[in-house]
Amino acid sequence: MKIKDIQFEVRSFRFEEPMKVAFATIVDMETCLVRMTTDEGITGFGEAAPFSYVTGDNLETVISVGNDIGKALIGMDPRAIGAIHRVMDSMYAGNGAIKAGIDIACYDIAAKSAGVPLYKYLGGDDPHIHSDVTIGINEPGAMAADAKSWVDKGFEIIKVKLGEDIATDAERIRAIRETVGSDIKIRIDANQGWSIKDTVIISRRLAELGVDLIEQPVRDFDFEGLREIKNSTDVLIAADESCHSIHDASRLASMRAVDVVNIKLMKCGGIYNAIKIAAICEGAGIPCMIGCMGESTLGNLAGMHLAAATDNIKEVDLDSVYILKQEDVYGGFDHCGGHVTLWDAPGIGCIVKGE
Ligand SMILES: [Mg+2]
Repeated sequence: MKIKDIQFEVRSFRFEEPMKVAFATIVDMETCLVRMTTDEGITGFGEAAPFSYVTGDNLETVISVGNDIGKALIGMDPRAIGAIHRVMDSMYAGNGAIKAGIDIACYDIAAKSAGVPLYKYLGGDDPHIHSDVTIGINEPGAMAADAKSWVDKGFEIIKVKLGEDIATDAERIRAIRETVGSDIKIRIDANQGWSIKDTVIISRRLAELGVDLIEQPVRDFDFEGLREIKNSTDVLIAADESCHSIHDASRLASMRAVDVVNIKLMKCGGIYNAIKIAAICEGAGIPCMIGCMGESTLGNLAGMHLAAATDNIKEVDLDSVYILKQEDVYGGFDHCGGHVTLWDAPGIGCIVKGE
């Protein structure tokens, strides 16, 4: 089987509500749909969702790098995923989002060609996963109301964006905990917004409020800071922006800098590298989470299939599908609150309007 053509198509979505995180307020997302066709008539779809604050790329670079890499991949077997990544990496460092978009399209084709859902192609046998849902930074009362509305919809794990002054941040969690009760799991993402000292101080208060995990409290480069915090608190410490590659994962593991690593397809360049990161962490006894970067149904589904197939992906944070308004790609999974069941359809399994 050979790749015959790769097309890149810009798509825009609005968030249901603006999503405020420590470093930005995000109102809409522009992503790139990757459409890959083969000489055997199989079409694969991928999604590249650049997020310049974290990945350093944007839609313009995604399209131009994608067109350049795309030319080099014509004629290659999309199932030869190691060879595809070697070509992409030989041409461009970084650029995780477009590499992920191409990687996902290749896996979609490979699983369709094998006639199985992607999670089975990746070695899994259980189509069920359980995701959290994220609420953005706002006034404490508004965040509590937001959390309550998700709990009313059946979600049992709430991820809360923080990363401002720690007194207000602690008040936000107090308000949410009072509103949702003690049975709901609450985890925090500070998106690099705190200092080491502030994190150690607030982690005591957050532990009392039943928070079990703090993600990326300090700047992405500060691996020593993460380790210092991890050794000073009972709350689990997770790396997100600090882990883009197998090399980051390896360093975090050897330094024993964190308790959990949050893998994102758009940071690491797709499923192929995500599997490697999960394995590196598994070898070091570090469980992984899989998160998302504002991608739509398609990108979220790729992560869901990977999570369903990968033992060491223990936590799932694939929720942009619930907070973006988008209609051109749909299906692929059913959900009851955060409990997801993947469809038993070949490949990623979503329906692309007009295809
Ligand atoms: Mg994060």
